[in-house]
Amino acid sequence: MTPPLAMVFLGPPGAGKGTYCKEITAHYGCPQVSTGDMFRLAVKEGTAIGAKAKVYMDQGALVPDEVVLEVVRGRLGHADCREHGIILDGFPRTLAQADALPELLGSIGLSLDLVVNLQVGHDILIRRLTGRRMCRSCSRGNFNIYSLPPKREGICDYCGGELYQRDDDRLDVIENRLAVYHKQTSPLVDYYRGRGLLRDMEVGSGDIQVLAGAILAEIASSLKSRG
Ligand code: ADP
Ligand code: ZN
Repeated sequence: MTPPLAMVFLGPPGAGKGTYCKEITAHYGCPQVSTGDMFRLAVKEGTAIGAKAKVYMDQGALVPDEVVLEVVRGRLGHADCREHGIILDGFPRTLAQADALPELLGSIGLSLDLVVNLQVGHDILIRRLTGRRMCRSCSRGNFNIYSLPPKREGICDYCGGELYQRDDDRLDVIENRLAVYHKQTSPLVDYYRGRGLLRDMEVGSGDIQVLAGAILAEIASSLKSRG
């Protein structure tokens, strides 16, 4: 059996980190840890962390590092990460977060194996983000009015729940999120490339299942070549 893996998915908002991470975690049987999902849940549940995070999320800005690190540290403390490994979706997003990661992983006996860098052109990102509609009731319902419309407008195909647009998927906020990505997160591409951990994957067009297969193959061959 392979030892538990630790992987990071990097890429601009709208690149499909969540979508591909779901496919890859299903394959490896490890938890997907999405800081964005954790913050949205915290907002929904009205926790103190949620209240802190919401101010930043609504503007498309990054939640402060110390808040993010607290949330990630808490999640890594659950036994499933130590036992099955972890795929990080949307973390790290700043150099300070990246610098903190080795110690966080080390504390549960993991080390970072690979960073998958999802690449998508600017115009496609805008279309994906403005078209995105999520289900209020289930985690599978993730649609796009342009590329992946639900069978009935406004209704989730999987559970019949109501679809909604994320507050931060409005055009003005999207532009800010992309600017924040370029300024604060894109330096991580060179950071991880320099450490020999980065694999680029172009996912601007093509079938999700086919691309997910290509990502899995790339991960498998990278891990194998390092023994
Ligand atoms: P996307 O990648 O589509 O922008 P996410 O769901 O990953 O969306 O994140 C939504 C928001 O949550 C971000 O815009 C940011 O405000 C906050 N957030 C998520 N992860 C982090 C992180 N690692 N550091 C700082 N803020 C974060
Ligand atoms: Zn649903």
